[in-house]
Amino acid sequence: MAVEVKQEKQTAETEVPSTMLAARLHGPRDLRIDRVPRPPAPGPGQALLRVTAVGVCGSDLHTYQDARIGDTVVKTPLILGHEFAAVVAAVGPDALDGNFAPLTVGARVAVDPAQPCGRCEMCEQGHPNLCHRLHFCGTYPDPGSLSEYMIMPAHTCFPVPDTVDDAAAALLEPLGVAIHAVDLARIRVADSVAILGAGPIGLYILQLARLSGADPVYAVDQFPWRLELAARYGAIPINFKELDPVQTIKAQTGGRGVDIAMEAAWADHSIQWAAEMARLGGRLVLVGIPGPDRLEMKHSTARRKGLTIRLSRRMKHVYPRAIKLATSGAVDVTGIVSHHFPLEETPQAYAMNEAYRDNVIKVIIDVSK
Ligand SMILES: [Zn+2]
Ligand SMILES: [Zn+2]
Repeated sequence: MAVEVKQEKQTAETEVPSTMLAARLHGPRDLRIDRVPRPPAPGPGQALLRVTAVGVCGSDLHTYQDARIGDTVVKTPLILGHEFAAVVAAVGPDALDGNFAPLTVGARVAVDPAQPCGRCEMCEQGHPNLCHRLHFCGTYPDPGSLSEYMIMPAHTCFPVPDTVDDAAAALLEPLGVAIHAVDLARIRVADSVAILGAGPIGLYILQLARLSGADPVYAVDQFPWRLELAARYGAIPINFKELDPVQTIKAQTGGRGVDIAMEAAWADHSIQWAAEMARLGGRLVLVGIPGPDRLEMKHSTARRKGLTIRLSRRMKHVYPRAIKLATSGAVDVTGIVSHHFPLEETPQAYAMNEAYRDNVIKVIIDVSK
């Protein structure tokens, strides 16, 4: 298919300086603001993006703490970040966006950080989130979005309306993760749902579960400010520092347990709690990533109940739905944002977020306006 690409390309490129600032991880907790070469001109099907806003994610914090995530070790300085919004600075030939429409210079876009190969068995079967040739922003060796400019395939870019601001556009990524998790949960209207972890993903899952008709929805966390927000979104909050979450939910459900338990925290003891609070034949959806890379649950708990356990892996083509939910206001996307930092203060932002100081929920790095 032939696509007209306007001449704006040349002018746009000459305005871009030859170096740029980027937040790079050099080792565990060693995040620095470096001056690095800017990306080259976009090739066929590519876009040069001027990054506007980047969200800090729990998975970024794992990488920051250990300079690794799972088996993936960071070997050379790595630009972190994968939740981001941008403005298109230049496009190469045949640059088609995520909706298969020509991508234009100046468009404000939300960017899907995943680049599946599109050819492997899983991609062909409709599971691009399981592609083993997948490239993902900010996962070694692929550079992330905490930089002033970056090159991305045009098809990862989804234009957003002006009513969706830069922070909201960046947060369509974690909203997408939550949408995929809720897809896996197969919530039926009036199902009871427990959400372990009222962080950004948990709070999005909560809003989506309510939209899906779940009732009641319990939110389990230890931070009062997160539980307050969860209550505002319609959850029954349970602070596990004050109450035993399993006993509380058992008591509230007449001993039955919930239809669905969704783990969106650090996947430690919360996994066992999820299994214990689920009903007979219930369903677990596990979204959180554990620090020690182990999934631990008492076998008999899951076996005797005949639980269905689903592990959520990223997402697949959820941006159009995420954009609809953000545009209509059905999901309060930026309600979780607690902090904004400029790019230059990314190291401080990470240190603060890691320590859960200052009532943090979600940190946005404002890279440019
Ligand atoms: Zn993320
Ligand atoms: Zn593939």
